[in-house]
Amino acid sequence: MNSRTFTCIICPNGCEIQVSYEGDKIHEINGNKCKKGLQYVEQELTDPRRTIASSVRIKGAELPLCSVRLTKPIPKKDIFSVMEKINQADLTAPVHIGDMVIKNVCGLDSDVIVTKDMERLQ
Ligand code: SF4
Repeated sequence: MNSRTFTCIICPNGCEIQVSYEGDKIHEINGNKCKKGLQYVEQELTDPRRTIASSVRIKGAELPLCSVRLTKPIPKKDIFSVMEKINQADLTAPVHIGDMVIKNVCGLDSDVIVTKDMERLQ
């Protein structure tokens, strides 16, 4: 049997959740203030996922980088491949919040979108 402590990231409470488990079967769980904490730990044990907020090079704007994010969390193991794609991308101003940068990045059913309006430099 394994024991581990997780910090739930679903809400700002950030509960510290102590779990005893074997494989993906949970035997005991303590510290979660609601059921979402149990779902979070189950997800972490079976298919941990993360979202990414990063930036992409942009031409023709006042600043050299534009902030972007994923529309859905992706498997933790794929973060490196997705970051490579984000680092290879570039944009040309103007761009607006929600504009598509990379659709279905790495085939993971998550898009990279712009999170900042950036106008063309006059
Ligand atoms: S267990 Fe519930 S209350 Fe605690 S951080 Fe997670 S979602 Fe929030």
